[in-house]
This record gives sequence, C-alpha cells and structure tokens, in this order.
Amino acid sequence: MAAKLDITPLSEWGFFTLPKPCVIAGPCSAETEEQLMETARQLHERGIHVLRAGIWKPRTHPGCFEGIGSEGLKWMQKAKKEYGLRICTEVASEKHVYECIKHGIDMVWIGARTTTNPFLVQEIAEALRDTDIPVLVKNPANPDIDLWIGALERLNREGIKKLGIIHRGFSSFEEKRYRNSPHWEVAVELKSRYPELAFFCDPSHMAGCKEYIPELSQKAMNIGFDGLMVESHNNPACALSDAKQQYTPKELLDMLYSLTVRNPDSDDIKFQESIEQLRTRIDSIDEELIRTLSARMMISRKIGQIKKESNVAIVQTSRWESILEKVLTSADIYGLDRSFISSVFNSIHDASVQEQNKILSE
Ligand code: PEP
Ligand code: MN
Repeated sequence: MAAKLDITPLSEWGFFTLPKPCVIAGPCSAETEEQLMETARQLHERGIHVLRAGIWKPRTHPGCFEGIGSEGLKWMQKAKKEYGLRICTEVASEKHVYECIKHGIDMVWIGARTTTNPFLVQEIAEALRDTDIPVLVKNPANPDIDLWIGALERLNREGIKKLGIIHRGFSSFEEKRYRNSPHWEVAVELKSRYPELAFFCDPSHMAGCKEYIPELSQKAMNIGFDGLMVESHNNPACALSDAKQQYTPKELLDMLYSLTVRNPDSDDIKFQESIEQLRTRIDSIDEELIRTLSARMMISRKIGQIKKESNVAIVQTSRWESILEKVLTSADIYGLDRSFISSVFNSIHDASVQEQNKILSE
C-alpha cells in the first residue's frame, strides 16, 4: 500500500509564474560556455525563467558525449547570475547532489534510468536531506507505477516536500511513432492518487523528434499537467546529444503559443450544470455496470460448479476465443476501440477464471 506524501504545492515553490504551462527549458546537455550562455540569453529574452541543462549524461552507448561534468555547473551559475534564471540539472548519484549544492543549483531531477534503481534514489534522497531543493522524478524507463511512487516516497521520507514528477514516456522494443511510448494512463493514475504533486511532461524525450512535440504538449495540457520540460538549444543541428528533438528558443516559443491551455475547473454556472448532469448519468451507468458484472459473475460461478461436478477443466480456449470474437464485432458496431474492449474482457475473463478456480479448489 502506497504511503501518503507530504507535499508543498508548486505554487509555493516561487519558481514559476502563471499562466500555465510552467516551463523548464534548455539544452539536453551543457556543451560549452558559449552554447549555454547564448541559449540561456535567448530563453531569458523570451520570458523563460527556469533553465535546464544536462551535466552528467546517461548515454545508451559508450563513446558518446557523456556530459561536460562539474565545469558546466559554473556556466549554469553564470547564467543564473546574469539572467536571473533558476537552474536545474539531472542527478544520478550523491556525488552529483553534492556538486549541485556547491554550485547553487536551484532544482534537480532524477532521470528515467535512475528512477528504476532504488539504491541510487535512496542515496540521492539522503544527500538532499536538510536542503530545500525541489526534486522532479522522471518516470522509470518501464511503465511501473509502483517503482515511480517508491522513488517519491524515498525522497519524501528524507524530508523533501517540494516534489514533482516528469512524465517522459516509456521505452519499448516495438517500432513506434514516438521515441518513448506515452502510456498516458500511468501518469493519469498517478495524478489521481497524488493530485498535490507538481506534474510536468517532457514532450522532447517522449517524441524523440521536433515534429511530434506540439501534439504531445497539447495532450499534456488537455490532461491537466502543470508544466512542460522542453529541450532547447541555440544551434540544435550541432547539438552533441538529442539533436533531432531540440528546438531553438524561437521555435520553443512558437510551440508554446500554439497550445490551448485547459483550466483545471470552471465556476461557470452553465458548465457546472451540464457537467453535473452528465456526471450523474455516468454514476448511474457505473452502478448498472457493477450490477451486470455481478450477475455475470454469479452465472460464471454456477458454470464453475457444473465443471467441478463433471470434472472438466476451467478454461476452454475455443469458448474464450468465440467470446472475444463476438465482443470485438460488437465493439465495431458500437464504435468502441477494439484494444479497449479486448482489455476489459480479458480482465473479466481473468476474474471469472479465478472464481471458478476457487470453486474447483474447495
Ligand atoms: C534528460 O532529460 O536529458 C534525460 C536524459 O532524460 P531521460 O532521463 O528522460 O532520458
Ligand atoms: Mn536529452
């Protein structure tokens, strides 16, 4: 059972000014002083207040640019001083945290590869104890919500209350549209369990190329994310890491202006009335669904009883295949998504098998 988190809301961090989205922007990696300062200047000029840059880069293959290291923290400090920006970077060990503290880093994030490792998260959490540095936790590379929550719990137990998440999508083996599959449902589930957490989306690492960043950012706004972390470089074509997914600061602003930002709620009386009516109907349909599922389960138990008496195995593959075929045909008729219906019926079937198994084991 996940613990409750003790969270300081994003509005009290003093980092971001409304309206939404709260934006964190900057290069994938700090490469040279000139590149970092020029990118910072252009972002500052366009009203960005929080600068990101990777200092230690977790690269998939050895031999790639693995980050400039602590020297880059000095450039970030310089950007902070010169342009009044808040500065943030990724930490993957206690050594990184100590270096960040030494160089006045305002906020840190834990990368997707590190979130998967409870030893490292624990080490980072302990190194951050007694600081007031906010921490954003990227989703683990695999869609495991408990691993993600576990990382948040470890940080919170060490007294870190300025906590947020960055949804950057999940890696998978298949060929797909985006570099990292969104699986929005994982973030939505996390948001419904911990609405007080700061919610950021990283459309750059999710997309893997500039073209898909607007649609992913819009989706994040539709879901109700607080902000976006977007990679931006003064000369993306020459970037030493993630060149394809980095915007120039100008392109970044154009994208941000193209977004429609949704309000979390509305006081408008008409909106309230119609939403209330529709929610009431949803509630009664949900009741009806439960009644129907219960009736189905009762029949399934009876079938289990008969199978037991006749000494017949629980699963008849051909029967399950014909159920699935029938419901998918109905799904087409009613305009419902096939994979949605297939996953609903898989769950129903699993639950029935479990019930019948209980009966057979009695
Ligand atoms: C990054 O933000 O630069 C980064 C390495 O991201 P991720 O951990 O999401 O791969
Ligand atoms: Mn990157």
